[in-house]
Amino acid sequence: MSASILELDLRALSGALAAREVSSREATAAALERIRATDGQVGAFLRVTAEQARAAAAAADERAARGARLSPLDGVPLAVKDIFLTEGVETTAGSRILEGYLPPYDAAVVERLRAAGAVLLGKLNMDEFAMGSSNENSAYGPCRNPWDLARTPGGSSGGSAAALAARQAWGTLGTDTGGSIREPAAFCGVVGLKPTYGRVSRYGVIAFASSLDQPGPLARTVADTALLLQAVAGHDERDMTSSARPVDDYLAGLEGGARGLRIGVPREWLAGGLDAGVEVRVREALRRYERMGATLVEVSLPHSRYGIAAYYLIAPAEASSNLARYDGVRFGLRAPARGLREMYQQTRARGFGAEPKRRIMLGTYALSAGYYDAYYLRAQKVRTLVRRDFDEAFTRCDVVAGPVAPTVAFRLGEKVEDPLQMYLADVFTITANLAALPGLSVPCGLHPEQGLPVGLQLVGRPFDEATLLRAARALEREQGPLPPPPGVA
Ligand code: GLN
Repeated sequence: MSASILELDLRALSGALAAREVSSREATAAALERIRATDGQVGAFLRVTAEQARAAAAAADERAARGARLSPLDGVPLAVKDIFLTEGVETTAGSRILEGYLPPYDAAVVERLRAAGAVLLGKLNMDEFAMGSSNENSAYGPCRNPWDLARTPGGSSGGSAAALAARQAWGTLGTDTGGSIREPAAFCGVVGLKPTYGRVSRYGVIAFASSLDQPGPLARTVADTALLLQAVAGHDERDMTSSARPVDDYLAGLEGGARGLRIGVPREWLAGGLDAGVEVRVREALRRYERMGATLVEVSLPHSRYGIAAYYLIAPAEASSNLARYDGVRFGLRAPARGLREMYQQTRARGFGAEPKRRIMLGTYALSAGYYDAYYLRAQKVRTLVRRDFDEAFTRCDVVAGPVAPTVAFRLGEKVEDPLQMYLADVFTITANLAALPGLSVPCGLHPEQGLPVGLQLVGRPFDEATLLRAARALEREQGPLPPPPGVA
């Protein structure tokens, strides 16, 4: 039974739990066993909370027996990126500087998952402070792609995508500041959704770049992604950027199909610089949409070419400010030293890896007197132009579609020496963060030569996650599921 439980998607498992064909204890035991058997190779988990998970599963079974399930997630084993605070469970954001840090409270989204009855299996690997596109910046070792263990799962939410592809959990949460949910989802052949900025609370999420960070779900199917978003979306007064707008019913219209949908294809996104095999799959997905009754309209996002440059001023600037709190006094690591100043220096020198140090230096420079206007302020103006491009596009289409990343999953080590090449992995995803728009990655087949997953990106109007999910579901249904990843038996 346990192998077949692992093959059920989240919604199917939820149905089986409701019908009491399967218990949460069995599902949890199957997941824990799967993690034990495969995670030595994959490295998706930084911490497995087996005891807590078993206790939560027992409580869920007891509710199911009383006919008192709390939600469709009741009893379903999930896992979250190590950027979400979990009360009493070590939370490091992939950094040495937070080694041993035990948060005094749960992140809002973790609270919501627990309140829905979900079973939390543990904390997932990630690039240090979510800075990266390959998970190789984790201070605790890389995570590997279950499709090919020599390749990256993507980043920064690498563990969140790899755990799903490896069948270790039924759903996960990640965060996306410049592409960190969508790119790993694409690389691992799963679905990932970055919600509209403000749709999901950032309370208790370790901050990277506060005007861009947004938590969101990853899952094996579009419906599962919708279920998870439903559970975590909504207003939270503890996050002042959280929207009070009511949350849509993401499952109600999910099977509505693509007929009549106007899909904007940005001229700039298919204009070269894209791997040929990725382009083949993206164009094929667009043709499928046409066959399903959608219309393709060419749109233009002329300022998207400045996206990476603007992002690498804004994100490091905000990061340099957010990371100032890791001073050895309040959180995690404290290096021994003779005086306060030396303690700050030693703690930060030892605690941060190369990428956060690079960002702190870039960001501090961009914010310094005399440069603030030339860099940070100018980047903010570019941001407005990027948003206007999308506003203009959305007068003519309902969603914008294109690639998630310029390539499929690359090899571990391939880009670590060249930060700029690494930054370019996000060339198609960053604009949605700059414009605060929802973006989703859905598998659109395997690369014709390399046999690795390719993701189609859909970007929507603000708070129109429902249309993204409906459009993604139409493609998923038309296309059928990917084969299981060959990298882990
Ligand atoms: N790869 C981008 C970066 O390194 C985006 C990361 C993210 O979305 N958290 O900043």
